[in-house]
Amino acid sequence: METSVVKRFLRYIAVDTQSAAEKDVIPSTAKQFDLAKILVEELKEMGAQDVKMDDHAYVYATVPATSEKEIPVLGLIAHMDTSPACSGKNVNPQFINNYDGKDILMNKETGLTMKVEDYPELLNYKGQDLITTDGTTLLGADDKAGVAEIMALADYLLSHPEIPHGKIRIGFTPDEEVGCGADLFDVAGFGADVAYTIDGGALGELEYENFNAASAKVKVHGFSIHPGSAKNKMKNAILMAMEFQNMLPVFENPMCTEGYEGFFHLDGIAGDVEETVMDYIIRDHDKQKFEEKKAYITRVADYLNQKYGQGTIELILKDSYYNMKEKIEPHMYLIDLAKEAMTDMGITPVVSPVRGGTDGARLSYMGLPCPNLCTGGHNYHGRFEYVCVQSMEKVVELLLKITEKFEER
Ligand SMILES: [Zn+2]
Repeated sequence: METSVVKRFLRYIAVDTQSAAEKDVIPSTAKQFDLAKILVEELKEMGAQDVKMDDHAYVYATVPATSEKEIPVLGLIAHMDTSPACSGKNVNPQFINNYDGKDILMNKETGLTMKVEDYPELLNYKGQDLITTDGTTLLGADDKAGVAEIMALADYLLSHPEIPHGKIRIGFTPDEEVGCGADLFDVAGFGADVAYTIDGGALGELEYENFNAASAKVKVHGFSIHPGSAKNKMKNAILMAMEFQNMLPVFENPMCTEGYEGFFHLDGIAGDVEETVMDYIIRDHDKQKFEEKKAYITRVADYLNQKYGQGTIELILKDSYYNMKEKIEPHMYLIDLAKEAMTDMGITPVVSPVRGGTDGARLSYMGLPCPNLCTGGHNYHGRFEYVCVQSMEKVVELLLKITEKFEER
């Protein structure tokens, strides 16, 4: 099983599966079917059951139970698409065997170099084997490392029926990178009690907290009139928009926050005297602070409406997703078992709050509690993406250990 995960990984990153934003269809790009079909074939070949690809490129399969015990059905989920931020076509992986801890020349022609100074975590991989890009594309470890690890585990379990484990359901999703991976996921059909997404970073990462998230569209309605005769008549929407922004807390801004600190982020502004529109996102891990932030921005709108007349500020608040923590907490064994499995293997678990959302968070609210596990990759969505071979092998082992712990529990 040691080498199969790398071979699989190389097969999968050879297939371009880049997704595209703002398409009304899933998958957003038809080429995601290319990988879905390969996975279906491979799953059938290894003897998985209920292998199915639906019309939207979601792939599902079962590794049947080998234990008589009553064990929660465990789901393992990864996404097949790669980020629209960087090309995933003609990926040309570079092997850095027995890495010496120095800067990595990724492309002899362009001279593109990954510097230890910029990516000091490289030093953790001295003596191990890395796979990088040639500096012209992303690598696709996000999340084909996760796909390959799940596939390697499934293959191993199906060829070792003597290992006792419960029923395992496998799910591969399209369009995670454009925020739609959970949209058409068939939670009921999947039939797992709990699941993990395998979509994190360095070995040991384990995540079950993410932001609560909302969007706020602020439409400021002004009144335009010739500036020469505007006295006591003009209402300048641009100036009122600036006043709105200036009333928000200065330091509750992405540029000034980290860890569990939330923020208001002005993501776009466009307008003129007559109408100016601002797009905000609001984020906080803490549910109460999240509600307070929404209440605060509403109060700012109310205040300016009192000052300039009702209807001047139109505020459209919309919740986007919630922190999965409260959905995971009733199933904390998911976290405890993963931590135990890591500790058994000599890996230090690193639990940290995600400053974003995950498909797992959405799935958790759709009824499938779903924390996130590491894949072994780094520097996602760009040309400096790389993955550690030994980490990928360890993740397969980790998944195996977790299934065993499910059975022993
Ligand atoms: Zn991912």
